[in-house]
Formats: sequence, C-alpha cells, structure tokens
Amino acid sequence: MNFAEIDQKMMRRCVELAAIAASQREMPFSCVICRDGEIVAEAVNRVVQDGDVTRHAELLAISEAQRVLGQKDLSDCTIYSSVEPCAMCSFPIRETRIGRVVYAISSPMMGGFSKWNVLSDNELSNVMPEAFGGIPEVTAGLLYREAAAVWRAWNLVIWLAIRFRGCLTEASKEETYRSVQVRSSRRQGWLRRMLGSHFQRVAGVLRRDAG
Ligand SMILES: [Zn+2]
Repeated sequence: MNFAEIDQKMMRRCVELAAIAASQREMPFSCVICRDGEIVAEAVNRVVQDGDVTRHAELLAISEAQRVLGQKDLSDCTIYSSVEPCAMCSFPIRETRIGRVVYAISSPMMGGFSKWNVLSDNELSNVMPEAFGGIPEVTAGLLYREAAAVWRAWNLVIWLAIRFRGCLTEASKEETYRSVQVRSSRRQGWLRRMLGSHFQRVAGVLRRDAG
C-alpha cells in the first residue's frame, strides 16, 4: 500500500469513528494515529461523556499512542483527524514530534493551523528544539465530503449554523497553499531537526546526571 492509499484508509477509519462518536451523543470529532500503515491508537471525543472540555479525540489518541509505543517521541507517526486539530491539541502534536497531520474539515476559528500558528510555527522548534519538534507536514481537506456528511447526519440544523458562521469549512485555497509551503520548508529543516535530536540527547544526559 502506498502513502496515498494509507491516507485514504486511515481517514476512512476516522470518518467511521466520527459516526461512532455521534452515536454516543458526542460531537463527531475523531482521531487515528498510525505508524508504518498500522493503527497505533484511535479515539473519539469524550467531552460529553466525561463532562470535561479537555477530552478531545486527539489528546486521548496521543496519550494512548505514547502508552502503546512506550515513548514520548511519535515522530514516525501520522495523526488523522476528522476536524483540524485545535490549538490545545496542536501543542502536544509538536511536543511528541508527530511527523504528519492530515485532516478532513478545516476549523478556521479554533484550528492549530488555519487560525493559530501552532502547527506551522518554526520559532517553537528553532528556539526550543529540546522540547518541540520541527513543523509537521500538513494535509488539509482529505475526505472532506465524507466527514461533512457525518456532521450533517448528526444534526443538520447545528451543522448549518456551524457552516453559516464559518466555524468548520472546506480547506481554503490559502490553507492548501500554506500546507504545500510547510512541506517544502520542512525539507529544508533537516539540519535543525538533527540539532534538535542532539539537544534532546544532551538534555536527557543532564537530567540523568541531575537525578
Ligand atoms: Zn482539540
């Protein structure tokens, strides 16, 4: 299976999970984390069930992926989200160094890419390479129609209100263009990433010595 086929397969699973979330009275937010074409972790929002606004699908899946793999570093993983990760979820994406972010529906009010410059902020990793990974590759708009259909089926009135206010949309041309730019600047960032992993090792040694 090539990369494009893996992307399709993983996002289809994500759309399926979004429908499962809706059947559990959650909003249709879902997330899959994959490595080498295999699912490492998957989650749906648990905000309603747990009565906790921090229980976003991405945060749950990132925690699970770290537990399953026994490490904080998820740099060889891709995260798939039914909706663009919000700013809150985008920070741990940077901290775990997830290499790729793929989403279906854009979130121009809350998104960590289209609204807030968290996923594509080079300064984070340039200044604190020991804490933050280089900017991930971003692919916006994969299976938008399928993901949007789940939202429509979940609650047509609320979906129309969300769309009318521009809270969730199809990826804009500007957003798609920026994601392509991010991919090319990422390719130029190999030296910084190498230095980053060096700093990480040094920081690890210092922590061990201090302990
Ligand atoms: Zn979030």
